[in-house]
Amino acid sequence: MQRVALVNETDWEGWRKATRSLILAGVAPEDVRWSVSSDGEDRHPLPEGHGSFGVSRSLVALASLAIQARDASRFDLLYRLVWRANAGEGVLQKTDDETVRQVQRLAFAVRAETHRMRTMLRYLPVPEKDRTRYLGWYEPAHYVLEANAQLIARQFSGLTFSILTPDGGAHWDNAELRFSAGVARRTVPDDEALLSWWRAHHERLLRHARIGTAIPEAEQLDEVPRPPDRAPVGPVVLPLRPDGPLHEAMQEASDCRRCALYGPATQTVFGEGPAHASVLFVGEQPGDQEDVIGRPFVGPAGQIMDRAMEEAGIDRRTVYITNAVKHFKFEPRGKRRIHKTPEAPEIQACRFWLDVELIRLRPKLVVAMGGTAARALLGRAVTVTRERGRPIELPDGQTAFVTVHPSFLLRVPDEDATAREYRAFVADLRTVAGLVD
Ligand code: SF4
Repeated sequence: MQRVALVNETDWEGWRKATRSLILAGVAPEDVRWSVSSDGEDRHPLPEGHGSFGVSRSLVALASLAIQARDASRFDLLYRLVWRANAGEGVLQKTDDETVRQVQRLAFAVRAETHRMRTMLRYLPVPEKDRTRYLGWYEPAHYVLEANAQLIARQFSGLTFSILTPDGGAHWDNAELRFSAGVARRTVPDDEALLSWWRAHHERLLRHARIGTAIPEAEQLDEVPRPPDRAPVGPVVLPLRPDGPLHEAMQEASDCRRCALYGPATQTVFGEGPAHASVLFVGEQPGDQEDVIGRPFVGPAGQIMDRAMEEAGIDRRTVYITNAVKHFKFEPRGKRRIHKTPEAPEIQACRFWLDVELIRLRPKLVVAMGGTAARALLGRAVTVTRERGRPIELPDGQTAFVTVHPSFLLRVPDEDATAREYRAFVADLRTVAGLVD
């Protein structure tokens, strides 16, 4: 029995070399036992084979995806396919073949998880000496971290990021992609714990990180030279680019399924305004009319906001307006849809899109209107009356400003109080205008 121990779960290079030796030495699949041993134990010399062989590009592409599946049988299944392909069988044409179907199922699951990881990942900005690092956490269903990190590094080439998962960490510093050990979920149960864990451990983690090699989109298994780092990894959907146009993000958000709110709502209501706006206003969520029309702040609260902005000397056409949550949350009551306040997990899920807007616009000032927007922005529960009306420094260097949500003015019971609250809102907006002058 020939034993092969790969150095990690996505050791493409190790699997490729072992496959080549074993095939050339004529070792049948049933005589090979595959395992993963990161500490070098269980390592056995490979047989020496002579000659060369090649398999089709599509089989290599399929293998480079399937090897990322969290399935212990994948190395063996892939070796079986290569063994048969080397014997002259057109294996990929055999769509009824059980091994082919198993490998295709694995490749499909990996591709889906690759895409899911990119759409689900959200980043916490962590200020460093001369830059901001974007820190992400994700628990992948398959071993897609390395391939995804290569793609994300290409797309986010101007940024610095670290993605932590239980399987490992990926760190991009705008020059080199490095991989480190994983972090258990219980160690970083929420954003706050993740940030403090990162602050305490990142130096040691980065010191021991290894430079990554790519899972390649190879041509011929036998002839492929060692691929350069960050080589393409196959047919996967590209991630959002933080510096890409906003309409690209808007399009992706229209299919968002990150929380359950997309279900009953009519559509995603993304932010709107010029891409170079220096002020970004954040409300809570679209209301009944916004949900139907598909634009933020066009209902009664939007009308009050327009009037107050005009009085404060702010031209709505020059600012960007969005919501912390992009789908309308409501409770049906007869023919009416009654607004419901989004809950923390929904705010947290939708923070992804707010981050995309913040990263792409990089506004001078972010105005949170109401408790939900303030919570989304500051990452904690906020008492609006306590924190309104003054600039608040955000961890990534941006400045926030908290005020009431204009819909609050619609709910004030008596006329005098409404007039007073309206004047206070206009005063806040004047302060906003002064802060970005
Ligand atoms: S509310 Fe936000 S996170 Fe939830 S589905 Fe809609 S866009 Fe996605």
